[in-house]
Amino acid sequence: MTEATGIVGEFLGLKEDTDADVLAMQCGDFYEFFADDAELVADELDLKVSQKSSHGSSYPMAGVPVDDLTPYLKALVERGYTVAVAEQHEDDGDIHREIERVVTPGTLLDVGGVDAQYLAAVVRADDGGTDGDASDATYGLAFADVTTGRFHVTTVDGTDATLTELYRFSPVEVLPGPGVRDDGVLCDRIEERTGARLSLPDAASFAPGQAGHVARDHFGDDTFETLGVGDLGVRAAGAVLAYVDETGTGVLASMTRVQPYHGGEHVELDATTQRNLELTETMHGDRAGSLFATVDHTVTSPGGRLLKEWLQRPRRDRATLDERQASVAAFAAGALGREEVRETLDVAYDLERLAARAVGGSADATDLLRVRDTLGVLPELVEAVEASPQLADSPLPDILSRPDRDAAADLRAALADALVEDPPKTTTQGGLFKPGYDDELDEIRDRHEAAQAYFDGLADRVKREHALSHVTVDRNKTDGYYVQVGKSAADGVPDNFEHVKTLKNSKRFRTEELAEKERELFRLEEQRGDLEARLFAELRDRVATRAELLQDVGRAVAEVDVLASLATHAVSNDWNRPELTDERALDVTAGRHPVVEQTVEFVPNDCHMDGERTFTVVTGPNMSGKSTYMRQTALIVLLAQVGSFVPAREATVGLVDGIYTRVGALDELAQGRSTFMVEMQELSNILHSATEDSLVILDEVGRGTATYDGISIAWAAVEYLHNEIRAKTLFATHYHELTGLAEHLERVQNVHVAADERDGDVTFLRTVREGPTDRSYGIHVADLAGVPEPVVDRARDVLDRLRQEKAIEARGSGGGERTKQVVFDLDSGTMTTADGGSEPEPEPKPAIDPETAAVLDELDGLDVDRTSPVELMQRVQEWQERLDGE
Ligand code: ADP
Ligand code: MG
Repeated sequence: MTEATGIVGEFLGLKEDTDADVLAMQCGDFYEFFADDAELVADELDLKVSQKSSHGSSYPMAGVPVDDLTPYLKALVERGYTVAVAEQHEDDGDIHREIERVVTPGTLLDVGGVDAQYLAAVVRADDGGTDGDASDATYGLAFADVTTGRFHVTTVDGTDATLTELYRFSPVEVLPGPGVRDDGVLCDRIEERTGARLSLPDAASFAPGQAGHVARDHFGDDTFETLGVGDLGVRAAGAVLAYVDETGTGVLASMTRVQPYHGGEHVELDATTQRNLELTETMHGDRAGSLFATVDHTVTSPGGRLLKEWLQRPRRDRATLDERQASVAAFAAGALGREEVRETLDVAYDLERLAARAVGGSADATDLLRVRDTLGVLPELVEAVEASPQLADSPLPDILSRPDRDAAADLRAALADALVEDPPKTTTQGGLFKPGYDDELDEIRDRHEAAQAYFDGLADRVKREHALSHVTVDRNKTDGYYVQVGKSAADGVPDNFEHVKTLKNSKRFRTEELAEKERELFRLEEQRGDLEARLFAELRDRVATRAELLQDVGRAVAEVDVLASLATHAVSNDWNRPELTDERALDVTAGRHPVVEQTVEFVPNDCHMDGERTFTVVTGPNMSGKSTYMRQTALIVLLAQVGSFVPAREATVGLVDGIYTRVGALDELAQGRSTFMVEMQELSNILHSATEDSLVILDEVGRGTATYDGISIAWAAVEYLHNEIRAKTLFATHYHELTGLAEHLERVQNVHVAADERDGDVTFLRTVREGPTDRSYGIHVADLAGVPEPVVDRARDVLDRLRQEKAIEARGSGGGERTKQVVFDLDSGTMTTADGGSEPEPEPKPAIDPETAAVLDELDGLDVDRTSPVELMQRVQEWQERLDGE
């Protein structure tokens, strides 16, 4: 290929200077893509490719109109590409182009929709944890949303906590710091957990000196110290800021403040728990059917965003919860006021995003009118709240007076005085401002309109003065203004009409006077356009400098929206206000599952736990409702700590510091995601993280492996949770043996989900009752599922035999006795045991190989009471590997 010159050469040159996957280069009214980029974009976005020849070579070329770039950018970024955008500038007729912006998933502006769009940086302490073990290193995390200006910083210990935070914010792009990016395993897990794109800006931007400087420069010298944000957090913050700056978003100034957060304020909810409880999406990844989708009645998108945040980050501090509860209660009681408020909210726009657009310089006149209107919502909300006795006597007036209302009113008035009601989309061609806003503009506008009037009346004048019919006056880009006369009349035009063009049915003319008036008009047009553009930029800057105010108002409006939404749901679903207590109690009367109750006739259930009964073992047949019962309990606690009402007739909820749920690997396997190893890692996490003040939900844990491993692990975990951690725990199991725990451990209670069995038919009652269940109904479920009758009958026989043999107990008792071995003879269809019995002797078994014998010996010798659960797991896993002959 010959060296490209001209425009293609310029394109290829710019492309060389950027790491972006694709370059969009402005050429007049279009953004063009050339060469490989043209092919790629055409492929991905269905654009037409043409050929551009440049000095003997020909290059593929594709383009999009300047005003249409945004949707294309979005589509490319969503497909995983980063796009550099080069803008065209003209100085004294000299045209040059420069890359001003690199668009990545986390720096995409102009997104719609409810979701926050976080860009995250992850920094690890340089020593990488003790013994280079990264899993216990300290991490600094920063999250920035360029579309709203939100900025959060924290430090956490360990990779698990890091992943939990990342899952919570669900960033679309993650910037791993130097140590982190070399840790392939961690990077994989980050990608897997968040689905984010990992981008690698210059490692120097994470360096303590440079990052600290950037962060302090932006947020103020002492901010981080005052807020108690540690060095790693500051480094993460600096790296994110540098990236936002470098990619040219122009919205840096909308990040007006750091929101530090520390573990202590929020209920710990690790990623697995968030997923298990289906807070924002179901296990299948659908939004519908999630807790959020069920309880969301917000009317604004910032409200939706905030509700989601609340659900993902329940609180521990009473003050916040009391305020929210009291507000929800007021909204629940004051139906009239609530409807009034919701109607008022209906016209509110997304102020946080509008603020970011103002700061970034992309806000147009319509955006500023939206700012005006939304600022106007604030006093209306105040009025609606004051008019309702219930709302007036609640925390709502306080919430609404947090933003500076006078400043908001001033800004609103300024915008109202400035802009016309129905402004044009472009900000460069005038028509934006009301008369009286600016003297100079008023004068130019008058002159411009007068000049325009000449053309407006011209057609009529020509007709009249020269007795012509079929006369029109119009303008186009090439000819400017012209008088168009129908062909039949065209011969009658006066001499001073200069012919410029002949069309099929008409001719076009211009005159000396017209040309002169036109010059005058164009000059005024340009003056007016320039002046209005300048005035508009000033106005937009004025709004941009009030970004913080807009964020405050937006926040208050969103909060009111969420509180009204929670009340709306509570009222229409008969939810009630839970009593919050610092005692270690959980007392739920007639509780329901918030999502399941939407679709089925739900049978309510109680849950009573206190200091004496911290541990509940839930048994019951398959499909009876164990998992539902446990999840509903977790969700009731969670909702209570969001400040919401709860699906229960009455509830007293002792505040928890964390909610941990785990579902046995088999259940998870059905979702195609987990293995026994993962199940054990997660169990191990809980055993490390949960405290006396936590709520732990274990659903069929230990299921992902053979019975004896599973039951041993489950047993040991129960003991540890009960004796050492003392967390409030709900534990569902299909191992009936575990119901015996209540006899050994003082704070364990048994409950079961009742089923009624008559004549071999099982009816699920869905009622939770005291005491253990006596048997499994698995065979009945097989029957229900249509397993052929002979198989079902046979299974009943086998089960009966197994029961008689008490095979499990025999094996479980250990103590040096020979283990009973149950053998099922395929030919005769009878059961035998290896140590004899009434049935015929089986074939002699092959001798046990030495490795197996060794494993059995070790198993026999293991003191379960004195071995930590984690060690137990490791041992079991090791044995399994040895038995597999590895
Ligand atoms: P298990 O964990 O015991 O196998 P699940 O909790 O998965 O059972 O519940 C099985 C089905 O029963 C679910 O589809 C759920 O819709 C329904 N269910 C559970 N609890 C109730 C209840 N209290 N009232 C009505 N339906 C319920
Ligand atoms: Mg279940």
